[in-house]
Amino acid sequence: PFRTLPELIHAHAARQGRQLALTGEGESLDYAQLDALMDRVAATLQQGGVRPGQAVALCALNSVRYGALLLGALRAGAVVVPLPISATPDTLAAMLADAEARVLLADQAAPPALPGPAQPLRVSLDGVAPGLPLEDWLAPEGTCPEPVKIGPQAPFNIIYSSGTTGTPKGIVQPHGMRWSHIQRGAQHGYSPRGTTLLATPLYSNTTLVAFIPTLAYGGTVALMAKFDAARYLQLAEQLRATHTMLVPVQYQRLMDRPDFDQHDLSSFQVKFCTSAPFRPELKADVLARWPGALFELYGMTEGGGTCILAAHQHPDKLHTVGRPVAGHDIRLIDEDGREVPPGGTGEVVGHSPGMMTGYHRLPDKTREAEWFDAAGKRFIRTGDVGRFDADGFLVLLDRRKDMIISGGFNLYPSDLEDQLRAHPAVADVAVVGVPSHQWGETPVAFVVPRPGQAPDAAALREWFNRRAGRTQRLADLRLVDELPRSAIGKVLKRELREGYGDVAG
Ligand code: ATP
Ligand code: MG
Repeated sequence: PFRTLPELIHAHAARQGRQLALTGEGESLDYAQLDALMDRVAATLQQGGVRPGQAVALCALNSVRYGALLLGALRAGAVVVPLPISATPDTLAAMLADAEARVLLADQAAPPALPGPAQPLRVSLDGVAPGLPLEDWLAPEGTCPEPVKIGPQAPFNIIYSSGTTGTPKGIVQPHGMRWSHIQRGAQHGYSPRGTTLLATPLYSNTTLVAFIPTLAYGGTVALMAKFDAARYLQLAEQLRATHTMLVPVQYQRLMDRPDFDQHDLSSFQVKFCTSAPFRPELKADVLARWPGALFELYGMTEGGGTCILAAHQHPDKLHTVGRPVAGHDIRLIDEDGREVPPGGTGEVVGHSPGMMTGYHRLPDKTREAEWFDAAGKRFIRTGDVGRFDADGFLVLLDRRKDMIISGGFNLYPSDLEDQLRAHPAVADVAVVGVPSHQWGETPVAFVVPRPGQAPDAAALREWFNRRAGRTQRLADLRLVDELPRSAIGKVLKRELREGYGDVAG
């Protein structure tokens, strides 16, 4: 039966009050302390007139306080809005206004001032950042909130889409969607004996899909304010971490460390990866050198179908993102919205027990994101292009918006990137399509050289173009120090495209 996360935490507090719930950066709360603080936060919000369904925003680095305040706001029935600290003040102000946030809980990592007339009450989490100090805002210790009835349709959070491909949209995720993630967690070994080490920001769904089940099953969440490979390894060892969620660039940094194999990581049971393409070679390296199961998740904040690849069980399927989770339905559709025949390539659309309610105050965008099958079943369009292999594993090709149509041919940047990565001087690469008079669009490459290597851009392009098919040939290749990435490590191809002028010819 449906339970909310605050209810589950309350139950753990009653049963195992001394068990550690949240820890990190010098702060810790056991379940009894967390439960009491959540009550205080919920009561404070209620006394401040925040009604169920109204928004409470957070803008801060990961911390135990952040986690506890987020959970306390949920107990009041508020919808939490975790904001990306890296966004500009204008963007943050627009998000706050869009969500009609009543309170903003912020630390010194957030911009000290935001534009706009109607400002929510600002609370300072660390006493350094501007705002009412947290201790002054909070109702006296022991204050209890009025009980609030929260159903599966009630909004849990609004997460603004990462904006990898366009303007951020507020994705409304209901409690029922989070409940489905908790239920899925049953197969991932979360328990009161587990410790989940998290180093990605709490404002991203990637982090929350591990944070929420860990607490729902009474385990410990260890939070790092910022990812740092050396510190991550130390902490993992020290805490005897059993679970973690990392994005591909973080796995890469960890595996690249010369001292990686000297660390005792035998405590790990389950590692997750999601959010961006995870190279098969990197998955193989993680499997070979890091104990425990490795699950790659493919999905999106909006929900819809999720695929899971149990990499440790399918070493021959590392080039795929796995199969749809039980109860999830994934289909492939063409440009006209028709399902493609078996074996065909198309846009991935997914249905699952946990899907977004919609984009906040954007009914048109919500409708654009939906697809219905003949029986009226609701799916969400991912914007990703893929195909199923003969065993039902999903192979992702690219994002639809990143696909290059050159001289009438569809080019998948990922194909070209894989070929370029085979060159010994290439550490990382992104290929994007830019406008071309002759071809409509044409591919250009941005290459990060390996440390200590200084390849010649023209020679590298020549090397590639000799091997490439006619339509694949690169119109340009530029050497760069690094690729622009979002806070969660996604390559921002839009920025690369926009920063590049037209290619004549
Ligand atoms: P926006 O919608 O604003 O452009 P976003 O799509 O990057 O942002 P998310 O919902 O966090 O925001 O990411 C979902 C997308 O991330 C998927 O559509 C897919 O392109 C990519 N993705 C997620 N998991 C994987 C994976 N395992 N392998 C490859 N790509 C993935
Ligand atoms: Mg998206």
